[in-house]
Amino acid sequence: MLKINENYLKLQASYLFSDIARKVASFQEQHPDMDVIKLGIGDVTRPLPDACIKAFHAAVDEMGTESGFHGYGPEQGYEFLRQAIADNDFQARGAKITADEIFVSDGAKCDTGNIQELFSIDARVAIPDPVYPVYLDTNVMAGRTGTFADGRYQGITYLDSTHENSYVPELPAEPVDLIYLCFPNNPTGSTISKEQLKIWVDYAKENKALILFDAAYEAFIRDDSLPHSIYEVEGAREVAIEFRSFSKNAGFTGTRCAYTVVPKECVAYDSAGNRQPVHPLWNRRHCTKFNGVSYPVQRAAEAVYSDEGKAQVRELVGSYLKNGDLIARVIGELGFDYVGGDNSPYIWIRSDRDSWEFFDMLLTRAGVVCTPGAGFGKCGRGYIRLSAFNSYENVERAMERIRQAL
Ligand code: PLP
Repeated sequence: MLKINENYLKLQASYLFSDIARKVASFQEQHPDMDVIKLGIGDVTRPLPDACIKAFHAAVDEMGTESGFHGYGPEQGYEFLRQAIADNDFQARGAKITADEIFVSDGAKCDTGNIQELFSIDARVAIPDPVYPVYLDTNVMAGRTGTFADGRYQGITYLDSTHENSYVPELPAEPVDLIYLCFPNNPTGSTISKEQLKIWVDYAKENKALILFDAAYEAFIRDDSLPHSIYEVEGAREVAIEFRSFSKNAGFTGTRCAYTVVPKECVAYDSAGNRQPVHPLWNRRHCTKFNGVSYPVQRAAEAVYSDEGKAQVRELVGSYLKNGDLIARVIGELGFDYVGGDNSPYIWIRSDRDSWEFFDMLLTRAGVVCTPGAGFGKCGRGYIRLSAFNSYENVERAMERIRQAL
C-alpha cells in the first residue's frame, strides 16, 4: 500500500485568492456597470522592456540556425548572464560575488521553496509573520512542523513584523538555525537598513545559523542608504544565501528567470559538527533536478544589464513607484497608519477593522480590490495590502474612489 507524505495534510488550504475572486465576481454580478479596480495582485502589469524583447527575438532567430542553435545549456546558467549579474548586481555595489556563485533558475519561488531540502529535518526554522507563504508551506511539506493551531504551526519560530517593531522583526528569543528574511518585504513593503541587517548576520555567525535572504523586490530600492544585497554587510558571505528575480524589475513573471547566490564560504554542519560548504550541495541539487533556463530567456535577462535595458527597467520600476507614492499619499491623508510604497510596490495599511471587513468595505463602497492581511499570517490580521502594480490612471481613479468612500 502506497502511503502519502502526511505532512501535506497539515497544509492549510489557501483560500485567500479564491475567496477574493469569489467576492469580486459576486460584486460584479450585482453591479455590472461598475468597473472594479484591482490593487490586490502581486503580478506586474506592464510589458517587457524593449531591450529584453529585442534580445529575446534575436536569440529565438539564432536558435533557428545551424550555428546558433542551443540544446541543453549549463544547469547553472550561461556564463554571459552569470557574469553580467555578478558585475552589475554585486561587484558594482562592492559586494564580492563571483559568477560561479550564481545559479540561474526559473524563479525565486522555486528556489526559496527548494532550498530547505539541503538542511536537516530537525533544523530550527524562523519565518517572518506576515510572510510570502512559500517559505512556510515548503517547510510544512518537508515535515519540519507540527500541526496548525490558532493561525500558527507548531515547531516554527515566528518572527513577528508589527507596527511596534516597524515591520522589521527582532532576533528570536529561542535559538534557530535557518532564518528567512525578505526585504523589501512582501507583503508589508518595509525595508531593512544595513545596521539592522548586520544584527542578523552577526546572530547567524554566533549561532552557526544561515540566513535565506529574499531580495526579489531589490529594484524598488531608491533610498541610497539601504542595502540592495545582504552581501553589502560584512561577514554575510559565510552565513547568507540570497534570492533574486527578474520578475518584478523587468516584468519576467510570465517569462521566468531568477537566480540564487550561494557564496563559496557559506557553510552548514554535518552531524559530527564538521563544516560543510553549501555551494556544492546546491550545485548538486540544481544539476540533478533542474535542466536550465532556456537560451532566449537568458539572453532577454542579460539585456536588463545593457545601457538601454538599465534605463528601461529604471523607468518601468519608477512607474510602479509613482503609483506607490500616490497610494501612500492618499492613505496617509486619510489618516491611516501605513508602511511601504516607497522602495517597494506594496503598501501595508493598518486599521482597527478585521482585514476581511476592510476588504469588503473597499470593494462595496469603492469598487477597489485589495488583499486582506490575514491571508499572510496571524500578524496580518487588521491589515490590508495595496499593490502598485497597475496603470497610473487606474491607481488615480482607485484612490479617488477610496477618498470618496471613506
Ligand atoms: N519572493 C517574493 C517575496 C515574492 O513576492 C515573489 C512573487 O510574488 C517571489 C519570490 C516569486 O518570484 P518569481 O517570479 O521569481 O518566482
